[in-house]
Formats: sequence, C-alpha cells, structure tokens
Amino acid sequence: MLGLMMNQPMMISALLRHAELNHGDTEIVSRLAVGGTHRYTYAAAAVRSRQLARALIALGAKAEDRIGTLAWNSHRHFEIYYAVSGIAAITHTINPRLFPEQITYIANHADDRFIFFDLTFTKLIEALVPHCPGVKGWVALCQRSEMPECSIPNLHCYEDLVAAQSDDFEWPEFDENTASSLCYTSGTTGNPKGVLYSHRSTVLHAYGAALPDALGASARDCILPVVPMFHVNAWGLPYSGALTGAKLVMPGPHLDGASLYTLFEEEGVTMSAGVPTIWLGLLQYLQANELRLSTVKRLVIGGSAAPPAMIRAFDEQYGITVLHAWGMTEMSPLGTVNTYKHKHLALPAEERDRIRLKQGRGIFGVELKIVDGDGIELPRDGKAFGDLMVRGPWITSGYFKSEGGDPLRDGWFPTGDVATIDPDGYMQITDRSKDVIKSGGEWISSIDLENIAVAHPAVAEAAVIGAAHPKWDERPLLVVIKKPGQDVDRDELIAFYEGKVAKWWIPDDVVFVDDLPHTATGKLSKLQLRQRLQDYRFPGA
Ligand code: ADP
Repeated sequence: MLGLMMNQPMMISALLRHAELNHGDTEIVSRLAVGGTHRYTYAAAAVRSRQLARALIALGAKAEDRIGTLAWNSHRHFEIYYAVSGIAAITHTINPRLFPEQITYIANHADDRFIFFDLTFTKLIEALVPHCPGVKGWVALCQRSEMPECSIPNLHCYEDLVAAQSDDFEWPEFDENTASSLCYTSGTTGNPKGVLYSHRSTVLHAYGAALPDALGASARDCILPVVPMFHVNAWGLPYSGALTGAKLVMPGPHLDGASLYTLFEEEGVTMSAGVPTIWLGLLQYLQANELRLSTVKRLVIGGSAAPPAMIRAFDEQYGITVLHAWGMTEMSPLGTVNTYKHKHLALPAEERDRIRLKQGRGIFGVELKIVDGDGIELPRDGKAFGDLMVRGPWITSGYFKSEGGDPLRDGWFPTGDVATIDPDGYMQITDRSKDVIKSGGEWISSIDLENIAVAHPAVAEAAVIGAAHPKWDERPLLVVIKKPGQDVDRDELIAFYEGKVAKWWIPDDVVFVDDLPHTATGKLSKLQLRQRLQDYRFPGA
C-alpha cells in the first residue's frame, strides 16, 4: 500500500522560491571581481533569476544543455545556479585554477553550450575559444560599460541579457532525478571525471548540510562561503543558505587574510567554510595584527585535514568553534562533520580534544564503513583502519559519460581514503590511500605526522611524504616551511616527535622549503611534492 502523501518533486527552484517568500529582505552581499560591493536581497535574486531563465531560453538554451561558468563567488553566479537548473539545463562549474588544457578538456567533455565568465578570465577565455567549437555563446559577467575589448566571438553582456527580460516566469516542475549541475574532480591522476548532481540529491544535501550537527545553518546566520562555487557547489552553501534564509556574503576573488577579515567584520559574518590553507592565512593575519573576529562563531574546515593546532588556536585564542568536516566532489560533498554528543560535554578537556580532532560522524544520508583488501568489513573500534566506503542518496553512482567505468563495489563508493571508525561513529582519516607511507610492510599516517609538525611554534606549513628507502621501501620525510622570523633545525624537529608517536613513525629527515605545491582546490599536492623531491636520498641511505 502506498502512502497518501503529495508526490511533489524536490526542485532546486523551490529553494529560491522559499527564500523569496519567507526571507525576501535578507541580504546577499558580493565583493565584485571588478572591485566594489554589490548588495541586494533574496527577493531581488529571485526576480533576476527568473529574468535570467527567460534570457537563457531566448539564447536557445534547452533542457540538458550544459552551461559552463568560470566565475568567483558572486550574486551573478548564484543567479546562474538557480536559473540554469531551474529550466532543467545543467550548471557546469569549471575550476579556473586548473591548467588551460584541462579546462579545454573539461568544457569539451561536458559539451558546454554557453560559458559565463568573470572579467578576470577574459584572457583565458580568448585562449579557450579556438579549442571549444561547441560553445555557441560566451557571456561576460558585467554590465555594458565594463564589457572587455577582446576577440571573443558571440560575446554577450550578462546585465543586458537580464535587463532585456521580464520576470514573468513560472519555474517548471519535472522529475526530481533530473541532472542539475556538473562538477569535475580535479583529476590528480588521469583525466578529470564529471560528477553529475540531480535536483533530488542537491535538495536532500541542502537539508542534511543545514542540520544542527552538520553545518548548523539558520536564518540567524550570516554565511560567507570562502570555498569557491566552482568547488563542489561551494559545499552546497548557496542551497542551504536559501533553504534556511541565512544572509549570504560572496567574497569574490580576494581570499587573503586581510580581505576576509574586513569582510567578516563589515558584514557580521557568523559562519564561514573553506580549506585549511585559507584559514592558515587568516590566522597569521589575525596574529600578526593582534586582531579578533567579533561576530564569527563557527568555521567549517574541510577539503583536507584540519591540523589540531589550527582547531585549538581558533577555539582557545579566538573563541571560534571549528567544525571539522570531510567529504568529496563525489559526495556533493558533505560526508561527516565533527560535533560532540551530549555525553561528551562533561568530559575533561583533554578527552574532548581527542574526539574533536577526528573528521566527525556521518550525517544522516551518508553511510560509512571500512573494509580490508578483500572487501571484508572491519570493526568500528577506532583502531582498525581500512578503505573507507560510502553510500547514500547524494553520493555518485557513476561518472558523467561513464568515464572510468563503474566506480561502485557492491553498491558502495570507494573514497580512496583510509580511515578508522570508532564505536560512537566518529571517523578519522589516516591518509589518502595513495599518500600513506609504507615502511617495512607497515603503514604510517602522513596526516598524523603533519599535524605534529604544525604544532611546533616555528612551523608555518608542513607535508610528510614517503621517500624511497633501500631497506624499508619508504620512510617518512618531513618538508617544512618556517614561520617568518622563526628558526628551527632538523634535529629539533625530529626530537619534537619523541613521545608523540611510535619511534618507527618518526621522520628520518627534514627538508626546509620556501613554498609547497597546492592543487587547484587548494590542497597540498603530494603528487607534485613527490615529483619535486624525486632525487632526494636519505643521508647515508
Ligand atoms: P579533489 O582531490 O579533486 O580536490 P575533492 O575535493 O573531492 O577532490 O577531495 C576529496 C578528498 O579530500 C577526500 O577523499 C579526502 O582525501 C580529502 N579530504 C576532504 N576533507 C578532508 C578532511 N577533513 N580531512 C582529511 N582529508 C580530507
């Protein structure tokens, strides 16, 4: 017997309609790529998104068409998110930090019909045009007076397109499983692969992400997504924002400590989200200038492991709760978030500390398990570690155009991460499977060793890789950037590990560098680092 409830599909456009009706005067503030600040409301955003939907149809965009964006976080990018998927077309966010050849590959693989771009990327687009014959039109995200002098054919002005249309438009209702947006994984190995989200998966993820034990978004929040809208839909915040009616602050291209600090203070930001490198920049800026953040309550840190020293610094020095989160492009992206349970509140500080350093508990909608090499499930005892597998309604079932074949194993998606899960459900990543250090047949967690190094007062950033060793196969090599004006030598750093990990885990050597390579999504690129140090030999080895 079927239930007797309305069978209403979950539509992304419904999120915006909800915000328009219930939070019409709540602001969306944007720092523009061309300079200056733009402010309007959810009501105005909804009107302009309907105008844009009509403009897209007038341009000839159809259901299923992929519409590319090369754009920073802004109100216009927000409108594109809603207008494109609202007409059953697909928002394809492209990461501008990728190499031009990868961008060309992605735009062609996705078959983008139109590409919307911020003026910052005009030169990049000029280079792209000859290689993307399938693109019927290019849209500059600006007003008429800002249109660039350039050689781009079929070039449109975004503000002209919007202004030419009325907002007399009803969002169509269609199957909630219809594709809504497309995001390529950065493809550290092989070609990038497209993850294709649906209206259903996006709305469910927006609900899940907003929960109190997830990101805890509400109508009392002012959310600043530092994480770019081209990186897994800014972790879903443009959707959870509309769902809860939170004020949104879109930071544009400037994500350095000083720019973020100013924006946080000016707009009264209560919650923000981004990768550890961003927060490192902010922390250094706050410390160097003896500043405090007066309104920020929560920072979501994910994308790579948040070092314990960072979690503690925000908490103890600035009174800000860090929500350590884990996920991936294939998971929309949210998988786990770290918050305490009721029973933890009475624990002594050191015991609580051990819990909050983990990547957190699976939110409802994400099932987790760890397995051994034969696919046999391992115990949830917080000690056994194995390949982390996930399943749920906002996790990919396969890549766009079946790239890479069927990724699932018995209905579970293998994350490529190695983790433990404890009896309370807290998951801890010990490594990415390809970064784990294999020493004499045993595994050493590079993340654990990095976390210890960055707790040293003279260390700004650290990476640990497995370097070839004639006897042990691999041994840990610590690579360190020193803090400006601070000094520390190899022996002091090695001694710093004593008593903190098993003796055989302690790095064999330290290399000091001025910079570390990062990927297009702002993470340490161990792959590039291993290449840079391929000629490294341990002393005496
Ligand atoms: P890409 O490698 O393309 O940047 P994602 O952005 O999807 O892909 O990255 C997902 C991966 O990032 C995860 O599989 C995991 O290895 C890593 N990751 C994400 N969050 C965390 C975290 N909190 N701690 C450790 N690793 C993380």
